[in-house]
Amino acid sequence: MIDFHCHLDLYENPADIIRECVRRGVYVLSVTTTPSAWHGTMELSRGIKGIRTALGFHPQVAAQRIGELKLFDSLVDETRYIGEIGLDGSPEFKDGWDQQVTVFEHILSACEKNGGKIISVHSRKAVPEVLDMIEKHHHAGTVVLHWYSGSHADLERAIEMGCWFSINPAMILGKKGTSLISKMPIDRILTETDGPFSTVNGRMAMPWDIEEVVTRLAALWKVSKPTVRSQIKKNLFKILKES
Ligand code: MN
Repeated sequence: MIDFHCHLDLYENPADIIRECVRRGVYVLSVTTTPSAWHGTMELSRGIKGIRTALGFHPQVAAQRIGELKLFDSLVDETRYIGEIGLDGSPEFKDGWDQQVTVFEHILSACEKNGGKIISVHSRKAVPEVLDMIEKHHHAGTVVLHWYSGSHADLERAIEMGCWFSINPAMILGKKGTSLISKMPIDRILTETDGPFSTVNGRMAMPWDIEEVVTRLAALWKVSKPTVRSQIKKNLFKILKES
């Protein structure tokens, strides 16, 4: 099982969650929301091969934390994974829009200078702007659009630009999400939970809830669950090799 976007550090009991991930063999991309969270989050899974920590700067905190860009720059060499970064166009974050753009652009430039990264990107209500920025910084690395919820036209554009997609249980439950997922290239899909922020069956999502996505992808692609698992695993190897 592969959870390519999970906030392990934001669970109440990260050590227990990590132990359970190891027991169940869940590979996790442990994303962070601020540069100052990087060291502590990395320490949580030190020595665990199946858990990788990404250096992030969440658009929803970009305005308050813009002072952490220097810290971001000092850490960017330490990992090949960046995220969660991006833009959020929701009304409640509009006041900080200019700072969001500054932070996102700064980070993509830093990724370009550092040889290309694997980047988990948030694009809620801001897909066109996110894609414009990625196009402008196309040497930043391999972009994985996490929880994509934009239009079909923008999805086509993202596919043409070479973006990847990570799919979570909340997305694959709805009609719109399912219709979008059916258009995504099978060899550029990864699974995620976005735990603890998303819910599965009315409770907080855990990394092993990836199983829910596997079940639904199997139905959507009309293949068996083992086939879905091996496809996602193949995709993970591919993104690691090509990036
Ligand atoms: Mn997230």
